[in-house]
Order: sequence, then C-alpha cells, then structure tokens
Amino acid sequence: MAQEAADLLIRNGTVIDPANGIEARLDVAVDGGRIEAVAPDLSGLPARQSIDARGALVCPGLIDLHVHVYEWVTNFGVNADDAGVNAGCTTIVDQGSAGAWTFGGFKAYVIDRSRTDVRSFVSVNLAGALKGGMRGDILHNPRMVDIEDLVRVAAQHPRLIRGFKCHGESGAISHWGTEVLEAAVRAADRAGLPLYCHTGELFPVVEANRPVAEQVLPRVVPVLRPGDTLAHVYSSMPDGIMGAGDAVPDIVGQALRKGLHFDVGYGINFSFDIARRMMAAGVLPNTISSDIHGDFGSYHDDSKLDYSLCGAMTRMLALGMPLGEVIRRVTANPAAILRDADIGSLSAGTLADITILDRLEGDWLLRDGRGEGLLATERLVPRLVVRAGEVIKPSLRYLPDLLPMPRAA
Ligand SMILES: [Zn+2]
Repeated sequence: MAQEAADLLIRNGTVIDPANGIEARLDVAVDGGRIEAVAPDLSGLPARQSIDARGALVCPGLIDLHVHVYEWVTNFGVNADDAGVNAGCTTIVDQGSAGAWTFGGFKAYVIDRSRTDVRSFVSVNLAGALKGGMRGDILHNPRMVDIEDLVRVAAQHPRLIRGFKCHGESGAISHWGTEVLEAAVRAADRAGLPLYCHTGELFPVVEANRPVAEQVLPRVVPVLRPGDTLAHVYSSMPDGIMGAGDAVPDIVGQALRKGLHFDVGYGINFSFDIARRMMAAGVLPNTISSDIHGDFGSYHDDSKLDYSLCGAMTRMLALGMPLGEVIRRVTANPAAILRDADIGSLSAGTLADITILDRLEGDWLLRDGRGEGLLATERLVPRLVVRAGEVIKPSLRYLPDLLPMPRAA
C-alpha cells in the first residue's frame, strides 16, 4: 500500500529551530496544518505540494512580540496582515492598543479577520491607546484602570489575551508615581499573566514633578515581577534602560537578577551606539520585536515607517549576534512569554507555522532611530510563510528598511 501523501514538503533548506537545538540542512513535512516530520531526507515521502528551499533558512514562524495593529481605531495602528504574514511573521502581539472596553472590537475586526495569528497584551486602561502616546495623561490616568474589567476580559479570551501592557516612564511617574504600575501588577497577579512594560519618556510630563531620568527605572523595576518584560532595551531615551551615561547602570543588573526580560521593541528610538555598549557588557535582549506602528502625530499614516521585524533581526545580526541567537529571539523565546508550546518550534505535532527566509548578500546601509548608519553584509528577507499549513507569499509591503520598493499610498 502506498504511503499516505503529506500536504507539504519543504526540501533542502537550512533548518534553524533553536527550541530543539537544530541548525542543519533538513527537510520538513507538513500535514493537516501540523508539523509531521523534520529529517535529513524526506524525498521518498509523497506530497501534494513541494517547495525547494535551497539556499534559504527554514525557521519556526516568526513571532513579533510588539506591534500596533488596531487599524482605524488607534490613530497609529497598521494593518495586521501587513505587519504579520506579509512581513514574515505568523504570530504578532499587539501591545496595548485595546483596553478592556475596546477588546471586543479588536477581536471582531482585527483578530477574527486576519490570516495572521494575532494576540494581545491588553492595556491596563479601559480604552486602550487610542491616540499615540500624546494623550497618555488622560488615557492612562489611574481612574481609567479597572482591575475587575481587566481580569474579566482576560478570562473570557485566554488564548488571545496573553498579558497586560503598562508604562514605566517619566510622564506617568510625574503624574501618578507608580500607582498605575501597581494596579497593573495586581491585575496581572489575579489573571495569572505577565506584564509588558514600556520604557522611555512617552506621555506629557508635569515639568514641576519631572523625575530625574536615572531614577525612573529604579522606581519601576522593584514593582515588576520575575517573567515581566521591559521594552526598548537599546532605546536612546534618557529615562530608558541604558540612560544617558557611559556605563551600564546598576539597575540593569538588578532587573536581570530579578528575572525580568528585556525586549528590543525596535520602534523609533533604537540606538546602535547603546546597543553596542550594552551588548559589550553582556546585556542582551530576551526577544526581538519591531514595535511597528504608524505616525503618532497623524491618522492612519505609515509613510514614515522605516523599520520592520526582519530589519531589526538584520541589525542585531550586523551588530554581532549569531544567527541562531537572533532566530531564538523571534521564535522560542517569545513563544515562552506567550506560554504557547504550539508555536515557536518545528517540533512534530505542533502548529505548522513556518517562515522561510532568504539571506540576501551584499552591502546594505541601515539607519537607527537617531539616523546613525550601520553597514550590514546580509539581510534576512522572508521568501514564504506557512501559516497553519497554508503557504502564503508575503507582499513585503512593510519591509522599507530592507528592500528598495515603491510603496502604495
Ligand atoms: Zn509600542
């Protein structure tokens, strides 16, 4: 009797699966939307569809832990599939665009209509981040936090809501000290979920009450719990994780010893200079994410977007992080934060979410948020995405930093 055919065979690629310690030329078989096998030669296996991945990397589907995709509702939200499968990511995690009162719309109009696996860290305020960071003094006021509502919405959507989003920066501290952060911790404790905490000045600051920049993180870190994540690890903001000094501040070591994670949250403030100095001191991110969003100051405007998840991965590679470590930080590590063993690896039986990446060789100049240049000798660009077994050709519309391409209005 003939062997039953698999749905899909991906042949001859270099498989990088950090969760399983694999970095080798292997074939991958997919059937029924799940990984069937990963082995040196599956050419004898009949398959309905076959992909030749020669010269490419075959990775677990990329997970972008920080995106903003509540399109049309927040002024800075972008399209979920453009940030997701069309940019090489099978799972994306919206950080705080929806709050407890607005999550229903996020599920109905974004999550349920996207091919990408969209998850949410719900904002600790009821409305979510409707208007960039600029109205944070209103939206993120302690009176807008409702722990009961947060716990309720998280319990209603356990697969989709994987944590809560909060902020540890000068604006919030100048208004309310750590009151909102403490409420976030109480909600997260009760819901049994992790927090993702923004760093770097974002909300309007009460100038009479402006905290000394170096004293912001020392107020935030003690409030957070092991397993919580601090965002924007290589940000150039003076009240950010590195701060404005030359040496890595003591609070960084305290945060690491406490078991906090650092995320890249690439966004608009990433600094090559700070990344180099912190990497030299051994301060590495646990995850690499994009923080992709439209222009905070206008409405539904992506014309200034000049970064991407693959762009952030390419920059980390150019800064000296080994390829396997880069891939680990967009697969196994974010999957662990999402506490989802069905994604983030190519283990047999798990969801067939796969990203096939080309390594484009040749000199390429990358910029950071300060306009500093960095010469990369290769770029990681998605060739194909497999999402729950379905093969998708990514449009690459949101890879402005890696591909010279005309962009639709
Ligand atoms: Zn963000």
